[in-house]
Amino acid sequence: SASASQPSTAFRVTPSSSPRTAQQREAILAAPGFGNHFTDHMVAIEYDKEQGWHGAEVRPYGPLQLDPAAAVLHYGQEIFEGIKAYRHADGSIWTFRPEANGKRLQRSANRLAMPELPVELFVESLRQLVAVDHEWVSGVGENSLYFRPFMIANEAFLGVRAAQKAAYYVIASPAGPYFAKGVAPVSIWLSTDYARAAKGGTGAAKCGGNYAASLLPQQKAYAQGCSQVLFLDPVEGKYIEELGGMNVFLVYKNGTIVTPALSGSILEGITRESILQLARDRGLKVEERKISIDEWKQGVTSGEISEVFACGTAAVITPIGELKGEGFSVGDLNAPAGEVTMSLRKELTDIQYGRLPDRHNWLVKL
Ligand code: PMP
Repeated sequence: SASASQPSTAFRVTPSSSPRTAQQREAILAAPGFGNHFTDHMVAIEYDKEQGWHGAEVRPYGPLQLDPAAAVLHYGQEIFEGIKAYRHADGSIWTFRPEANGKRLQRSANRLAMPELPVELFVESLRQLVAVDHEWVSGVGENSLYFRPFMIANEAFLGVRAAQKAAYYVIASPAGPYFAKGVAPVSIWLSTDYARAAKGGTGAAKCGGNYAASLLPQQKAYAQGCSQVLFLDPVEGKYIEELGGMNVFLVYKNGTIVTPALSGSILEGITRESILQLARDRGLKVEERKISIDEWKQGVTSGEISEVFACGTAAVITPIGELKGEGFSVGDLNAPAGEVTMSLRKELTDIQYGRLPDRHNWLVKL
């Protein structure tokens, strides 16, 4: 893949001539939901072989102009990230482990044969957007501003090879508490017909194609009354990997916390990594290893496994009450969320919102 060029941190800023009024913004922030609304501005940075990354700007939010032959539209060269800004009680705005997201974007770029954006430029792009759209970061409850950084290959060429031109953008969307009615256990569907990733494929990259592959099984999950899909390993179809958009953890009755080891087809979640650290800090026994679907079924049925949860940036930590699949179901959707699940959730959100000391230096001021 193309090598990173020196970041040019001079962003040209073009303010929107028609930003939402304070009243319109407040109405959106009062009930943002997730992914429905976007702030008044966006970041754009161009890449080509000759100039490297250049032309960084903050400009009014609006449609992209794309040549119909752009590679992204034909061969799916697209990668993205998801990261939030949190407003603390003193009004300051922070983000969580942005270097980790910046590095993951580089790994994704590498796998998709796209140019790597320098990590400092990634972090600076968030800072530049918040500088103009800071009023969109709510200070109420578990609200935040969700950033969607993404990169597309935009060279107009139909030959099948890595594009030599790309563009990176950041848009931002105010996010409310993921669960309108508070954190409640969800039901998930075990997909045995479909995989989201393959051995040697793109499962460890955050590319649009992985999500495209997960949408049909996701529809099936909805039809079964489940909110997410659990995927098994693509080789043996025996070991659990992750959900369509979250990693998973099992909590044993004896306190051990277990999550699937990174297999090459699992996305390396930053929430997952942070939870592993918080659990170690508590002196809990932590295991990253292969977990068969039978271990889950038998453990939950026998009571050996006392809690199961999913984790990711959007919903932080979500208790999993029930696992369903063709001809079986284990767990109890009506049982209350587990103690370990909820206390890890509280600790992580308390760090993110500045209510607990940031002992691992995870927060970066925007
Ligand atoms: N797995 C998948 C497939 C995801 O899309 C996400 C969300 N980025 C995660 C796991 C969780 O990653 P993170 O904790 O970095 O949000």
